[in-house]
Amino acid sequence: AFHAGNSVLGRYLDALVAALSGIDAGEVATYIPQLGRADPSDFGIAIVTADGRLYRAGTWDRAVTIQSVSKPFMYGQALTELGRERVLASVGVEPTGERFNSIVLDEQHNRAFNPMVNSGAIVTASLLTRATAEAGAADMLDLFSRLAGRRLDIDAEVFRSEDETGHRNRAIAWLMLNSGMIEPEPDMVLDLYFRQCSVLVNCADLAAMACTLATLGRQPMTGDQVFSPEVTRDVLSVMTTCGMYDYAGQWLYDVGLPAKSGVSGMIMAVVPGQIGLAVYSPKLDAVGNSVRGIEVCRTFARDFGLHTCTSA
Ligand code: GLN
Repeated sequence: AFHAGNSVLGRYLDALVAALSGIDAGEVATYIPQLGRADPSDFGIAIVTADGRLYRAGTWDRAVTIQSVSKPFMYGQALTELGRERVLASVGVEPTGERFNSIVLDEQHNRAFNPMVNSGAIVTASLLTRATAEAGAADMLDLFSRLAGRRLDIDAEVFRSEDETGHRNRAIAWLMLNSGMIEPEPDMVLDLYFRQCSVLVNCADLAAMACTLATLGRQPMTGDQVFSPEVTRDVLSVMTTCGMYDYAGQWLYDVGLPAKSGVSGMIMAVVPGQIGLAVYSPKLDAVGNSVRGIEVCRTFARDFGLHTCTSA
């Protein structure tokens, strides 16, 4: 279990940043041109505990786009609005073992494999479109802001960059339109998907969002019940099996926490009942996960004995 006094934890995180900032491996993502402008030396960590306390270290306040870490939250909202049965008809819960942007679909069930890869996230976004693109974006931003406990916004430049260069995501959407996995209007679906990826968060925002998943859907600072306990459990389950792309199996083996990563270099991890953790460092490994981010989670889980399969 998680035992650390206030100042002890703050000092621990400072020491962790110092100890791991020598790691220089990986590459900043450039396939979305705006992401290539990230400062590779940035390295921040934040933790929010179930009682609403915030601990942070390094460049925790750098605001970057949330990217794929948006996926679990949209999935939770789809489950909330439409229920399990309707959502499962469109997107399953099986890991693909393929890259996050792979063009592979569950032909047997005529659905996307899971909501943590691009195809499944685009289907999930299709379930959350509104009458207009503006209304869909506004509801998405309201949701993310409730989860973070403060008003969030979109990085317009990154959004435009994704929209201009997202040909592969466009191909996935039209392929799914062809097989009836999404309803017409792929342009509006992709607009929402690109916008959800472009929401700006810092490590403290993301740790608060992660902690909301740790505390059965109740935002630890505002007390807002954003998701039901049942929906939260479903979100954490899919994060556990599919959250780290094609590294998910090794991640569970080594770290043992539900988590989600994004190509901006963010990773969020959840210790159910206890804490939300967010790490930012933009250099990615070949799978697309933050190199230092993985090391932080591995070290933290080991030092505090947090692997879910060993908790008493
Ligand atoms: N916006 C990115 C994309 O669709 C998100 C991918 C990611 O973070 N893995 O390619």
